[in-house]
Amino acid sequence: MKTIGLIGGMSWESTAVYYRLINEAVRRQCGGLHSAEIAMRSLDFVRVVELQQAGKWDDAGRLLGEAGAGLARAGAACVLICTNTMHLVADPVAAMSGVPLIDIIDETAAALRADGRRRPLLLATRYTMEHGFYAQRMARHGIDVVVPDGDDRGLVHDVIFNELCQGQVRDGSRARYLSIVEAARGRGIDSVILGCTEISLLVDPVALPLPGYDSTAIHAAAAVRFALADELERAA
Ligand code: GLU
Repeated sequence: MKTIGLIGGMSWESTAVYYRLINEAVRRQCGGLHSAEIAMRSLDFVRVVELQQAGKWDDAGRLLGEAGAGLARAGAACVLICTNTMHLVADPVAAMSGVPLIDIIDETAAALRADGRRRPLLLATRYTMEHGFYAQRMARHGIDVVVPDGDDRGLVHDVIFNELCQGQVRDGSRARYLSIVEAARGRGIDSVILGCTEISLLVDPVALPLPGYDSTAIHAAAAVRFALADELERAA
């Protein structure tokens, strides 16, 4: 089994979900007392948020890249950036880490394509919905991402930072998210991406009126496939 490197803490609420999902999958696939080999660097999220707000993406790339390089030194055979937003700096992080970066956008695109989805609604932070890096990478996979209207984007973003990343899960916010999905149905969407790693704490993808794609679960599953690739090949 290869060691999975996690760059986490963005926020730790979702990094904890990665940790659980990865270990559960390894137990399911390997049985008994098996658990995942994981190296994790969990950052103080405030440092990252300050760089986001200041638009200092180069500094953020260096911060996460140094974390990735540390994980590789600790024995990680791959790295995951445990947030969609910070894939904005995936290229420098991959370069500095020196081991394969399992990209959350590519993995989510693969999951959509496997089900024949081409026009998902993206629920995510403002950075992910508005910066362009996410939609552009999805477009490379032939996927045309739709984002909520302006005010709704603000609401989705604020719930992530003011509630979910601080451990608050509110029924009212869940209802607002669902009404944003309903409003977008008239725009020809065929699915919904939970494109922020905390959203599944609020919204169960199976409760959505359209097929839901949880980026956290998709990313964690990809890490386990990577880590167990040799074992799976031997068993085949
Ligand atoms: N975890 C979130 C994401 O997947 C937001 C936190 C962040 O800004 O990194 O985008």
